[in-house]
Amino acid sequence: MNHMRTIVAGNWKMNTDLASAEALVEGLVKEAAAFPEGVEVVIAPPFPFLEMAVKRCTGARIIVAAQNCHHHEKGAYTGEVSAVMLKSIGVKACIVGHSERRQYSGESDKLIGEKAAALLAQGLTPIFCCGEQKEEREGGHHFDVVTEQMKGALGRFSNPELERIVIAYEPVWAIGTGLTASKEQAQEMHAHIRALLHTHGASVAERVPILYGGSCNPGNAEGLFAQADVNGGLIGGASLVVEQFLELVRIAGAAQVGSRQ
Ligand code: PEP
Repeated sequence: MNHMRTIVAGNWKMNTDLASAEALVEGLVKEAAAFPEGVEVVIAPPFPFLEMAVKRCTGARIIVAAQNCHHHEKGAYTGEVSAVMLKSIGVKACIVGHSERRQYSGESDKLIGEKAAALLAQGLTPIFCCGEQKEEREGGHHFDVVTEQMKGALGRFSNPELERIVIAYEPVWAIGTGLTASKEQAQEMHAHIRALLHTHGASVAERVPILYGGSCNPGNAEGLFAQADVNGGLIGGASLVVEQFLELVRIAGAAQVGSRQ
């Protein structure tokens, strides 16, 4: 199944300042010409650094994404940023439904679906995150939890809309904890997500990339990225270190070549 798009996306979260964000972008841009064919590289810096990143990444093979957006186009929503604004500065994608936003900002699947709809309306790619908590996995409910998240957020979309979405499976217990899903655990959940997509038709299942996220780093990525239904990674901590992120891009490229042999 790894003939589909392979994506390595870096979620910088609330890290960097202008100088360190510029240094991080430059470190990646310098190496962009050597990125493996067929690997899409995405970075999601904080809002204040998006325009700088878009400008510096123009002409390099790096797509700039936001980490969040509001579900309305404009209006009296103090402190919020719309998909329209993101589009106007050249941002091409946006993370929605990250577990940190679900946890700290109380975002529901319905709201996450509305954010994804706002992005699709502007021609931006939603990177939709889903994943279970530790207790949910221990209770054996992880498949049901992810099914509900997918249905609750994405159930509203037509097939052509679904085909423009990227999914990231991020088990909450693995995010920023140093714990990683084993390659078997990742593959079985990705296969479950692929089967859910398949209920909308083969073309949806074949077109939507499913990324793995959760303490993914150069030490564990090879096994994860080699799985049949893992189409790359959403990377937190390791995306803040140029050498580590570049190594993850290289590993994703090698996994893609391996899957074609
Ligand atoms: C994330 O926040 O999307 C993530 C995967 O973080 P980390 O890689 O640090 O676990």
